[in-house]
Amino acid sequence: MREQLELLWELQKIDLDLKSIKEEQDRYPKEIKKLDEKQNLEKERIQKERERIELLEKERRKKEGHLTLEQEKIKRAEGRMFEVKTNKEYQALLSEIDAIKEETSREEEEILQVMDEIDELKKDLLKREKEMAATLEKIEGERKVLQERMAQGDLIWKKQMERREVVSKQLESKLLKLYNTLKEKRQGVSVVSVKGETCQGCFVNVPPQMFIEVQKNNALIRCPNCNRILYWERDGKAK
Ligand SMILES: [Zn+2]
Repeated sequence: MREQLELLWELQKIDLDLKSIKEEQDRYPKEIKKLDEKQNLEKERIQKERERIELLEKERRKKEGHLTLEQEKIKRAEGRMFEVKTNKEYQALLSEIDAIKEETSREEEEILQVMDEIDELKKDLLKREKEMAATLEKIEGERKVLQERMAQGDLIWKKQMERREVVSKQLESKLLKLYNTLKEKRQGVSVVSVKGETCQGCFVNVPPQMFIEVQKNNALIRCPNCNRILYWERDGKAK
């Protein structure tokens, strides 16, 4: 019986291990997805800044084009200066030129402002791009760690499944059946240790006489409260 109890205990440990591996393996893809989202957000932010700069560049080119036209207008008006005959015409032409000049100088001012803004944004973008590169690198590192853990989890899973097969075969079929039934009814835990005099499955004390028997580990004893199979962990942390 002792050997059978030990096998049951081992089977229980394997199953708990498999359960936690499964939980972790389920979690990794979600974490990787979160990393993907973070990465995309980062890229989108930068893209928006680039678009803003492009828009301003376009605005600048448009203003410059307009400015060139205005400057040509001034040249033409100035050319006409030699053709005017009366003082009145001359005065009219002068004020026309002044008006255009006023407008061009306003436009030049605006172009300078846009260029300043572009410069600021470009500086900011450069900084952000560096930050993004660092962030992306960090995310890539995290992704790698997760992928390695997943691969490792798969490996341990396989090993434990093989061992489970061996242990299950060595168990008496009625014990295996009891184990499986309890496992299903008791949240995956069929075999528990006893610490002090307390069942580690339901944390209720077992009767003193039963506790003495449990420590011998040579009979199938079940917790009177939760029905689980009790096991005395010899070298364990049992006090
Ligand atoms: Zn119990």
